[in-house]
Amino acid sequence: MAEKRYLMTPGPTPSPPEVLAAIAQPVIHHRGPDYKKLYAECLGRLREVYRTESEVLLFGASGTGAMESAVANLCSPGEPVLVVSAGYFGERWASLAGAYGAEVDHLRYAWGEIPVTDDVAARLRERPAAAVFLTHSETSTGVVSELEPFAAVAREAGALSVVDAVSSLGAVPLETDAWEIDVVASGAQKALMTPPGLAMVSASAAAWEKAGGAGSPRYYFDWERTRKGQATLDAPVTPPVSLVVGLNVALGLILDQGLEAAFERHIRLGRACREGVKAMGLELFSPDDDSSAVVTAVRAPEGVDSSELVLLLRDRHGVTLAPGQGELKGKIFRIGHIGYYDVFDITTALAAVELALVELGAEVERGIAVTRALEAFEHTTV
Ligand code: PMP
Repeated sequence: MAEKRYLMTPGPTPSPPEVLAAIAQPVIHHRGPDYKKLYAECLGRLREVYRTESEVLLFGASGTGAMESAVANLCSPGEPVLVVSAGYFGERWASLAGAYGAEVDHLRYAWGEIPVTDDVAARLRERPAAAVFLTHSETSTGVVSELEPFAAVAREAGALSVVDAVSSLGAVPLETDAWEIDVVASGAQKALMTPPGLAMVSASAAAWEKAGGAGSPRYYFDWERTRKGQATLDAPVTPPVSLVVGLNVALGLILDQGLEAAFERHIRLGRACREGVKAMGLELFSPDDDSSAVVTAVRAPEGVDSSELVLLLRDRHGVTLAPGQGELKGKIFRIGHIGYYDVFDITTALAAVELALVELGAEVERGIAVTRALEAFEHTTV
């Protein structure tokens, strides 16, 4: 019998059977009426999930494509921008803006720290910037930042707020319009429960105005071309039709259940995971509070290399967790709980971690993690 595999990384995430079944249907043509109908529906649902009245542009790309589109459409060579980073994906904003020739001021925190709005305000007073690039959920550390105050600080300083919401959209609250966030970039393969290959980005009126005068070269990721295409449901390139079909179903499932219910489930899954991890005697790397609703990052115990643990879990037990990235390589491992997960996925991950750590000779408290996780999930309300 084929080995059963458990995908428990913070992206890509498992897709519900309804989504997979939709993707498996015969391919339809992207200029035909069937596609136009579901394309319109999908774009409308995206706006609902984004909580925005603005158009959400959809690209065939991974999440980084949406991020790159933001840089390509907003930045001009030599223009000052501010990047706020505290982990692997924050660094990506700096690399992207640098690649497009922007003059990057980098407010860099130690990985795992939580960025502070006052620091950003002070930095912008010192060095004005056209745009501030932020990470909502820093998947490499498990830190989820409060976006609203950052957006306000950027606005007061006359800068656009540009947010990486790749691992947060649909998992934790994100009010694009109410919080007046200028640009939100995301991807389909996390809380939106769709196989990888779709990226999306929203832009405020101010961001559109800036895009009109930005001097970076772009073609595939040109926002205006894409907006024009979407306005007539006539995509400027051949979209990954089957993925859009799948995304539309996934968004329907999320909205049927309600976004608030999704946020609550993510909080409870985070609680279950943290309580289980602590019951085993392990130390959390991500914050020990409800902000850690996307991914739980755990320090490997003394004498254990977390990359080795992750390999053992995958190869011997069929459980795929995420290792530490960049400077956290070998030091932490990460359990994702974004999208199509329930508490039994958490207990499976915890039970497998417990077993693998024992195999690696680590001292862990055995037999209570699963019980604690179930209790934390059941006996708490948000
Ligand atoms: N930003 C964050 C916060 C992410 O978690 C990821 C994916 N792990 C990315 C950006 C990059 O997305 P992709 O791999 O889809 O390009």
